[in-house]
Amino acid sequence: TQEGVLRRQSLRESAARTYARALPIVPVRARGLTIEGADGRRYLDCLSGAGTLALGHNHPVVLQAIRDVLDSEAPLHVLDLATPVKDAFVTELFRTLPGELAARGRIQFCGPAGTDAVEAALKLVRRATGRQAVLGFTGAYHGMTAGALDVSSAATSVRDTLRLPYPQDYRCPFGVGGEEGAALGARLAESYLDDPKSGVPEPAGMIVEPVQGEGGVHPAPDAWLRRMRALTRARGLPLIADEVQTGVGRTGAFWAVDHAGVVPDVMVLSKAIGGSLPLAVIVYHEDLDVWEPGAHAGTFRGNQLAMAAGAATLAHVRENGLAERARLLGARMLSALRSLATRHAWIGDVRGRGLMLGVELVDPEAARPGSAGPPPADAARAVAVRRECLRRGLIVELGGRHSAVVRLLPPLTLTDDQATAVLDRFADALDAVDR
Ligand code: PMP
Repeated sequence: TQEGVLRRQSLRESAARTYARALPIVPVRARGLTIEGADGRRYLDCLSGAGTLALGHNHPVVLQAIRDVLDSEAPLHVLDLATPVKDAFVTELFRTLPGELAARGRIQFCGPAGTDAVEAALKLVRRATGRQAVLGFTGAYHGMTAGALDVSSAATSVRDTLRLPYPQDYRCPFGVGGEEGAALGARLAESYLDDPKSGVPEPAGMIVEPVQGEGGVHPAPDAWLRRMRALTRARGLPLIADEVQTGVGRTGAFWAVDHAGVVPDVMVLSKAIGGSLPLAVIVYHEDLDVWEPGAHAGTFRGNQLAMAAGAATLAHVRENGLAERARLLGARMLSALRSLATRHAWIGDVRGRGLMLGVELVDPEAARPGSAGPPPADAARAVAVRRECLRRGLIVELGGRHSAVVRLLPPLTLTDDQATAVLDRFADALDAVDR
């Protein structure tokens, strides 16, 4: 039974991960946006495997691609040997890559997780430049392995990295927000690098999320991203774009860097590229191809089922214009969420790009009198909103530095009616929190 499964799981499984406790459901079936629990209840899933399920659960083209591999008796795992399945995946992926990367890119399979690919990217730019420090950004999230943590914001070690200010409208470190705040951040980054007394060692590269996801859904302005590209190019620094979460149409362009017309030197890709199965790669400019044989290894780089599911997903998104669909639907949802915000004083901000949406909750009563910035974040209210959403059959994610940002990451296959259902349930949940 559902209760038995939940009880056994919470006995044996460490509390390091919290989903299982925050979402006490036992999914047994899923299709598209919908998950069905062992108790027969149905939920609209806007967590989407933390953004992995571009086509939703068990999309027919993904299932068919997996079945085709199984039925063909192709090997399921052969390390990094060449196979027709891998060939099809790489061909499809390269069709989508921006600018020079499509023509002069190289690919390295890194393992199952986004953090594996982040490690490979960091190692690659360090090898290519012979330098160590990598520039990262405040609020960044790149994964949970040591190197990835070092360029993420939650890191305790700042040995190898400098955190530059990431542009934020709502809690702009310069108190101005918008393009102006972003421009101040860019100028600060430039002056750090230009000032020999800043103590910043000559870096090996820069790593950036075009939209910060775990950090609380902060889209970087296109002009700022172009400036980071210009800055890194002028200094001969490789620019790494972490598109683990933003990739494959999620933000309304196939890759989020496409909005700004920026072509990074390295792209870190995972989540949706595996069509819901574990897969992570880096793609990088051939000039950076400094690996010698054996320089980078890892057993699980050859998951044929993930490559097949991934190729089917990439092709489906491209052929059906799902990035454009995410852009239009995302804009509609963003404005609907903004009008909901006018009804609740404790919604501080609504933001996002495409189908990567965030609602930041604040405590207006705790605002210090006379202080100019936004009120403090309210994590307790975010937990309450998530609980009320779950009661109404809607699964949402929490994020942001204070876990006070309610995040929606629905699949790109979301229909207009489903979007309406998600918004209705969300509106009801917000009203319930007020009561
Ligand atoms: N980079 C980004 C931008 C991410 O959002 C994540 C995961 N949320 C990662 C890296 C790490 O991926 P994984 O959890 O698969 O290691």
